[in-house]
Amino acid sequence: MSVRITLLPGDGIGPEVALAMKKCIDATGVKITWDEEIVGAPAIEKFGTPLPQDAIDSIKKNKVAIKGPIETPIGKGFRSVNVQLRQELDLYACVRPAKYIEGTKAVNTKVDLVIFRENTEDLYSGVEFDVNSKEASTLIGVINGMSSRKVREDSAISIKPISIFGSKRIIRYAFEYAVKNNRKKVTLVHKANIMKFTDGLFLRMGQEIAREYEGRVVFEDVIVDNLCMQLVQKPEQYDVLVLPNLYGDIVSDLCAGLVGGLGIAPGANIGAEAALFEPVHGSAPKHAGQNKVNPTATILSGIMMLRHLGEMKAADRLEKAVFAVIKEGKDVTYDLKMDRNDPTAVGTQEMAEAICRKLRV
Ligand code: NAD
Repeated sequence: MSVRITLLPGDGIGPEVALAMKKCIDATGVKITWDEEIVGAPAIEKFGTPLPQDAIDSIKKNKVAIKGPIETPIGKGFRSVNVQLRQELDLYACVRPAKYIEGTKAVNTKVDLVIFRENTEDLYSGVEFDVNSKEASTLIGVINGMSSRKVREDSAISIKPISIFGSKRIIRYAFEYAVKNNRKKVTLVHKANIMKFTDGLFLRMGQEIAREYEGRVVFEDVIVDNLCMQLVQKPEQYDVLVLPNLYGDIVSDLCAGLVGGLGIAPGANIGAEAALFEPVHGSAPKHAGQNKVNPTATILSGIMMLRHLGEMKAADRLEKAVFAVIKEGKDVTYDLKMDRNDPTAVGTQEMAEAICRKLRV
């Protein structure tokens, strides 16, 4: 029987990496009917919105989706489609593995960790008030009336909500993952020394949940700035990391950098009702349409999707094929070559085709 999956190619380099991923997933023999929906820049052109309702309805119906990146204008225009999708579908757990792959220019070969980033709260909640707006002025008036610390009148305001509910469910998800995947330690990341109430709450929820897993999973906490330094020097100390939204976003790019760059960093956004898989990288507009960028991050996201669907054998076979092509170092994109100007680098689709050939042997 065929399974229906929503495919959102996105914009920028999205359609190219999505096509490469689709080729590889189809080559495993798993029967998938792709329900392709337009989002991002092409959707603005066609429907006047970057996130048409049809795309959301398709994910709600199929429950599993995979997407390419989508551009977010900085400081103006549309709200991030990515953030909207996560909130609309309540995809509360952002899961980003970072593991050394032989053949890559990894800064550190000892990295093998999985990041669990809370996906719906924190400074990404979307509650923001622009400088000199009526709302910002009202809020500043209220805050200045309540607090001995004064907020300047000419401030813009972003709100950082962290709830008991939101914290508990992501922390529990990280512990459950650790138990099921034979991981030994969960490290909770925070800045509770400064944000005593928001990050302090996240930390307290971690300490509470950790008691339920005593004897099975080790628990520790670390302040985010210290973690960044430790990750660069001794990443092997870490196994499973659980973080509020903003730190999770930044730390996962740091980990992607440690293992060889955004071109090979996959991700998943998981909720109770739906799962959405996507590479960590963005739409890299300067490379769009050139059949140049690395499809690995999106293919590895597809492998996470196969595992989510219970297609373990197909996932293992495809992962082996991806790793073999990267280890060989011949049919790989420019970013995986020792010299980025190496003329033997292949294009996005050619790398995907080399992976498909490996699958067949
Ligand atoms: P980016 O990840 O798009 O690109 C940064 C750089 O990383 C690129 O210039 C390129 O050198 C490298 N890179 C990225 N993907 C690569 C790949 N597959 N192969 C080889 N090299 C690759 O980050 P950015 O430039 O900060 O963001 C561009 C746009 O993407 C922004 O509008 C941003 O908001 C958006 N974005 C979207 C998502 C998403 O859809 N989930 C995630 C991050 C950023």
